[in-house]
Amino acid sequence: MNFRINRRSFLKTFSATLSSLGLQAVGQKAVPSLPPDTTPHTMAHAGWVEEINTKFRKNLVGIQVRPFAWIDEGIDQVLDNLQSKAAVTSVFAYTFDSDPNRAKKSGGRLPDHGKYGPDTLRTGGASFDYDRRYFEGTRIKDFRSYDDGKFNVIADVAPKLKARGMDYIAVDFTNPFPMMMRTIPDLIDLAEVDMYGRPTNRPCYNHPEYQAYLVGKMQVYLKQYGDAVDGVMWNVESMGPIDNMIGADWAMIGVTCFCEFCRAKARDRGISVERAKEGFRRLEHLFRPGPKRAQRPPDGYFVTFWRTLMKYPEVLAWHNLYMDSFNHVRAQLYGTAKALAPEKPYGLHMMQNITFSPFYSASEDIEAISHISDFLKIATYSNAGGPRMGRLIDRLADTVFRDAESSDLLPLYSKMMNYDITSVEDITLNGLSSEYLSSEAQRMIADVEGRTKIYPSIDIDVPTAATGEKRTHPEDVKRAVAAAWSTGVPGIVLARDYSEMWLANLSAAGEATRTALQGRT
Ligand SMILES: [Zn+2]
Repeated sequence: MNFRINRRSFLKTFSATLSSLGLQAVGQKAVPSLPPDTTPHTMAHAGWVEEINTKFRKNLVGIQVRPFAWIDEGIDQVLDNLQSKAAVTSVFAYTFDSDPNRAKKSGGRLPDHGKYGPDTLRTGGASFDYDRRYFEGTRIKDFRSYDDGKFNVIADVAPKLKARGMDYIAVDFTNPFPMMMRTIPDLIDLAEVDMYGRPTNRPCYNHPEYQAYLVGKMQVYLKQYGDAVDGVMWNVESMGPIDNMIGADWAMIGVTCFCEFCRAKARDRGISVERAKEGFRRLEHLFRPGPKRAQRPPDGYFVTFWRTLMKYPEVLAWHNLYMDSFNHVRAQLYGTAKALAPEKPYGLHMMQNITFSPFYSASEDIEAISHISDFLKIATYSNAGGPRMGRLIDRLADTVFRDAESSDLLPLYSKMMNYDITSVEDITLNGLSSEYLSSEAQRMIADVEGRTKIYPSIDIDVPTAATGEKRTHPEDVKRAVAAAWSTGVPGIVLARDYSEMWLANLSAAGEATRTALQGRT
């Protein structure tokens, strides 16, 4: 318990220290000393959201399903499996899929159901028809996927699902995927721009036409398909430039964003664009690949890192600008959803790095996010989490803590994050414990103080490396599901994707849920 408090205090203090460094220097230039308050607080103070009576499914058991699974196996067959084996109440159906990859005979592996996909390239996009009038404010109007013909994952699936008393949650999965830039006309015009002026493979949150496009999709889900959709989850992963530099599994391309809209926003905050770029260049040089010892600066890596932040507080200011912009869009979509369908839950996917990285965890202000969401689905993957955490520790020892090796860093990291890890080899081979999952769920529950629901997600057969890394077994699933329910959460989500899961593991999830919920009302 003490550790938990210590960790939160550490992160808050650390974050506050970093912010104050950035703000102090900005203040010296006689410009506004504080960036504008983030939208979350503004919305909370406005009061109207507190009056909304959002309806939640009790003891929700969700599962994420990719569009092609319905076609491969048949809608009824999939629903039979979900209900009878895994006790699923709510399907988190990918309506927009930005990562259309799937197992093919030429690469990938199937569990004991489903089919291999064709070798032809898939484009991803919207697996539903939409009214173009919702997209008048943006040039992004053509994003329908025909990977699966004219199959409509809302109109074709939702009625069958609802006839069984299940809920349909539309998952708008909008991670960057290079194919999108090639297949969606004009999307490249909205791209984030890196510090060297190069457009990247993801659109910018500050581009008004990207915002209009995202709001348009929310309108489609909740107006055009208002009878079919019971809730929405915006599923996107963004870390900001500093965490992208540290990297690991979730890193996005480039130190961004320096587009015209972001530069204008920076000017409003009194942040020097050129000094921000120079600070990032210095960090990039410090973190460059190569022999650690030979490249070590005279004062060491960490001292140089900290000195760079003090000398160029614009780096932190730019990082904050990015995360504030991300939260602004989250808030915009939340407000749109609540205005259109106040009773339907709107939630966010929170990627697993929030449980691993002290830096990213400090960047994502869960308390603030609790004001702009009805639920948070946290990727608390205990099986695939082992190798993932191992790679993050390696990256920390290759960047900010480059004076040390991963094995040196591990004991301190373990204390800092309140984990009990003996070695990176151990977590890579055996995964993380179910205590990892329950303690992270409890931390989030404490952070949000009841303002938003916390749904931990249980990973089932999320792919790990071909050899040596942890695979999922039914006993793992049972332990993870039991650990999640033991925290008193109102729901869980089985992840990442039904088409990856072995049926024995699905059954294990169902068995553990039925046992855990016995006697619960
Ligand atoms: Zn931008």
